[in-house]
Amino acid sequence: MKRILITGAAGFLGSHLCDRFIQEGFHVIGMDNLITGDLKNIEHLFKLEQFEFYNHDVSKFVHVSGNLDYILHFASPASPIDYLKIPIQTLKVGSLGTHNLLGLAKAKQARILIASTSEVYGDPLVHPQSEDYYGNVNTIGPRGVYDEAKRFQESITMAYHRFHGLDTRIVRIFNTYGPRMRLNDGRVIPAFMGQALRGEDLTVFGDGSQTRSFCYVDDQIEGIYRLLLSDYALPVNIGNPHEISIKDFAEEIIKLTGTDQKIIYKDLPKDDPMQRQPDISLAKTLLGWEPKVQRAEGMQKTFAYFKGLTEDELFRSEHKDFTKHIIK
Ligand code: UDP
Repeated sequence: MKRILITGAAGFLGSHLCDRFIQEGFHVIGMDNLITGDLKNIEHLFKLEQFEFYNHDVSKFVHVSGNLDYILHFASPASPIDYLKIPIQTLKVGSLGTHNLLGLAKAKQARILIASTSEVYGDPLVHPQSEDYYGNVNTIGPRGVYDEAKRFQESITMAYHRFHGLDTRIVRIFNTYGPRMRLNDGRVIPAFMGQALRGEDLTVFGDGSQTRSFCYVDDQIEGIYRLLLSDYALPVNIGNPHEISIKDFAEEIIKLTGTDQKIIYKDLPKDDPMQRQPDISLAKTLLGWEPKVQRAEGMQKTFAYFKGLTEDELFRSEHKDFTKHIIK
């Protein structure tokens, strides 16, 4: 049985990756320090013999006994509110954490895939973004702690690949959504869905003309799975190129949820990228991959998940007026 270590296992993408690799017949070792992850996302796996879990912060030395075939490094805060609340941890998990996991991969002779992000392109001056674009990042802005940690992460991963011959993969993940997103992370989809379910107005930041391109989680996981099994070490974009403005998206959510609330406008957070759309030509040729799930279908599944949350989860005070945390 192949053995895989997944960091950030209790998070949104990490937990879906645990499910996928269990399904594929792997022995999965999950690791998470539960700062932003939630055990609820993986509690169904605890009864399985092929699954084990360690509550550990990977920015400290990581020990795993036995052999490892693969490592997926998905531990990181991943939303603008998290970067503001826990900036130092965000920097440490991307830098020190990645260093520890590369060291572990080297010691175990394991292949390692690290989760990078479209944030390495910053507020892009090139559209759509292809892998050869170097980006436009404000190093000292509120998002800098994430963007620069992820850029360092790519850099150290390539250094281990080139200097030590380590078997590495880098996925640049664009906005992804689906069940198990954290309701209070401030991202636009949980934000709008939570607001619709609580009967609050939907908060569009700026004039809503900024764009994003949303990828359903099953498509994202399939892309990551294929990349891991490929033999390509340079970064690969995985995302859905179907782009929409945030204002149009808010209107879609109002229709989908049937809420009778309206859109209200708030200030645009500092360094909020104006447009984002992945160029996925490389993933198409290299991996034979492209997204399959249309936004309407993915959003319905996601809304069904949020509707299934308890009243307590939905109405916790920290979810109310989360917009006060945003830096303008
Ligand atoms: N956004 C918004 N209202 C919200 C939360 C987010 O208009 O309540 C906007 C945000 O300013 C950004 C877009 O939605 O332009 C996507 O935000 P998210 O945090 O989901 O992702 P990211 O900016 O990291 O792509």
